[in-house]
Amino acid sequence: MTSSGTNPLPNSSISELLALAAENAKMPLQKALRRASRKALMWPEEASVMVQEDRSLTELPGVGPSLNKMIRRWIDDPPEIPTPPEIRAYFLTLTEARAALAKQPAWSADVKGDLQMHTQWSDGSGSVEDMAQAAAERGYEFIAITDHSKGLKIAGGINEKQLQQQGEEVAAVNASLRSAGQSVRVLRSVELNLDPGGNGDMDSESLKSLDLVLGCFHSALRKKEDQTDRYLAALRNPDIQILGHPRGRIYNFRLGLTADWSQVFDLVAELDKAVEIDAYPDRQDLSLDLLKLAKKSGCRISLGTDSHDPPQMRFMEYALAAALLAGIKRDRILNFMSCDELLNWAANLRHGDARHSN
Ligand SMILES: [Zn+2]
Repeated sequence: MTSSGTNPLPNSSISELLALAAENAKMPLQKALRRASRKALMWPEEASVMVQEDRSLTELPGVGPSLNKMIRRWIDDPPEIPTPPEIRAYFLTLTEARAALAKQPAWSADVKGDLQMHTQWSDGSGSVEDMAQAAAERGYEFIAITDHSKGLKIAGGINEKQLQQQGEEVAAVNASLRSAGQSVRVLRSVELNLDPGGNGDMDSESLKSLDLVLGCFHSALRKKEDQTDRYLAALRNPDIQILGHPRGRIYNFRLGLTADWSQVFDLVAELDKAVEIDAYPDRQDLSLDLLKLAKKSGCRISLGTDSHDPPQMRFMEYALAAALLAGIKRDRILNFMSCDELLNWAANLRHGDARHSN
């Protein structure tokens, strides 16, 4: 494979050129270009290398015959690539993520679990058992099942009763994993929908039966004004230990919220809670620029793929690479803890035993 130093047009640049071309295109080409720009984040090979090997780019997701021609023209005669606007900035391509991880193979080998995923209980397509099997195949020690809570109707959020029923299913899956000699354990969690005041939408008592709670904002995500206060309120909410996809950004669709991030991360560190890197390719939230600030504050980081089916658990590469590139230390990342250490950390937070990390 060509190194990025000699690659005239890496996938990151092609992604940006596709997005720019979409801005001047009519439908339906506009839609195809936007889609290909997003899919380029997930291409497993550098397109320019495929061209050198005389292969068709239609092998790549999102590329049909006309985009194949367009991209080949760019590779033959690379245009100037402007700096991406913020709505497309700091997104890693899969090839970039893999290049970063290749320099530190222990990270991929040692990561012990995945702390955000959805099942058929809300908007995922796999069962708890399907996710557990995929985790076992990856050699994980734990996964957290984080289906949406009841307020997020559009994603099939579950209520307290369903959360309890899901708990029975998780216990049964764990029992069968144990009897099959599998070492992976399924943790009970939820993606608690937070209002802009930082309050959850589920009864606190039912959340106490969970191993972990991930809190996330899903409303008023296009506010332009500073949102520091909502983050500070959410972090002080005693029901949650991890703040998920903090900015709420989506590639080329939504910028996400702004805040005094250093202040937010300092409070995360002070309370000994964690902020997430949501690894879903078009989220990548926290992004690399904010992770560098998080590193300064020394706060804990949680990695979650936000998988909606078992194969999406492969997205872990994006989160690991982002943490690595931002210089986050392994001992700050929940996913390198053993399962017992992770559970102790969450239990201590619940009992108001938050230690000050520095
Ligand atoms: Zn979410």
